[in-house]
Amino acid sequence: MRQQPLIVGAGPAGTAAAITLAHGGAPPVVLERARETGDAICGGFVSWRTIRTLEQLGIEADALNPARITRVRVFAGGRRSEAPLPHAALAVSRHRLDTVMQRRAEALGATIERGVAVRAIDRRRVTTADGASIEPDALLLASGKHDVRGSARPADARGHDPALGLRVRLPACAHLHALVGDAIELHLFDRGYCGIVLQEDGSANACMAVHRSRLHEAGSPDALLHAIAAEAPALADRLGFVGSGGWGAIDAIANVPYGWRTAETTAGVFRLGDQAAVIPSLAGEGIGIAVASGLSSARALLTGGPEESIAWQRGFACTVAAPVRNAGLVWSLAEQRWSAPLLPLLARIPGALGLVAAATRVPVFERSAA
Ligand SMILES: Cc1cc2nc3c(=O)[nH]c(=O)nc-3n(C[C@H](O)[C@H](O)[C@H](O)COP(=O)(O)OP(=O)(O)OC[C@H]3O[C@@H](n4cnc5c(N)ncnc54)[C@H](O)[C@@H]3O)c2cc1C
Repeated sequence: MRQQPLIVGAGPAGTAAAITLAHGGAPPVVLERARETGDAICGGFVSWRTIRTLEQLGIEADALNPARITRVRVFAGGRRSEAPLPHAALAVSRHRLDTVMQRRAEALGATIERGVAVRAIDRRRVTTADGASIEPDALLLASGKHDVRGSARPADARGHDPALGLRVRLPACAHLHALVGDAIELHLFDRGYCGIVLQEDGSANACMAVHRSRLHEAGSPDALLHAIAAEAPALADRLGFVGSGGWGAIDAIANVPYGWRTAETTAGVFRLGDQAAVIPSLAGEGIGIAVASGLSSARALLTGGPEESIAWQRGFACTVAAPVRNAGLVWSLAEQRWSAPLLPLLARIPGALGLVAAATRVPVFERSAA
């Protein structure tokens, strides 16, 4: 390649691409707006298929969290059910996942320039916040949840009542440990859900997706959490372990365009992760899509060059079409009052969970891809 590939964003998609490119002899430059690796709003559930794709990138599951998640527990409309996952998964904070992936990329020769925000993109031309302009042969857009001017996802992809992501951190505590254990818990309520898992440091991540209309009705994130807790007693039990500071730090992200995906791009520009497709987070497969897109786009670039972006984007959109559509169906059943209470019953049917899980996963990208 004539020039170093340029990647915007050092989340799972950008770092998966950086690892693959560096490993393939084309170490990229990654521009990351954050100076320090943060802890993005994310449930942190990593599926068994994503674990295998991460292994292709040289990232061992135990480096993220030696504990495994083996069960799903579903709460809705006063019902509760529990079923084994088809395969073991894991939960990891995004701080840990991003740190491990960034270190791997740098160890292989990628350069991560931190504190550099990209302000605008015009085809392959990138303008940074300090006014610098770069036009690489290949641009990999991995800015995730955040759109960049000139390449933003369409506003109408958010729908008339967009989803918000909310996250509450629950400190490590023996009671919570006993309640949640090795399960991923899904608490379903009117127009939203909350997923709870224990992370690598024993703390719990309670991450919700909820429609904006509920926030409008409640008036504030704090009031919304109280309203949700009142209708979901088991969730209220867990949120009760928030600590003496109360729900002071509720992290939020607005307008998540669940269900959006694109097959369109321009020559030399690869759109990765949430900039390629946004799977409803209830499925716990967004990191899977991010890592798969980073790995497979980088392989396409290494083998076919920058012009390969158009065919790759079209192919990747096809690959994720069914999981995104199926996850959308599950999410719409889970968020409605009439159908949500049926899901704990469904989870009890032997094999049903395995079918749903398989229908909402992206394929594993095997070793030849890295
Ligand atoms: C509520 C909620 C819960 C979720 N739970 C799960 C889950 O349990 N499991 C799962 O697999 N997925 C989950 N997801 C989805 C998952 O978080 C995303 O799909 C995943 O983070 C996408 O990775 P990414 O690399 O594309 O983007 P991101 O993780 O958003 O990373 C993008 C990176 O780009 C940087 N950046 C952004 N803009 C710029 C810019 N202009 N210039 C330079 N750098 C920039 C950011 O700082 C960041 O480091 C959840 C999402 C939500 C909203």
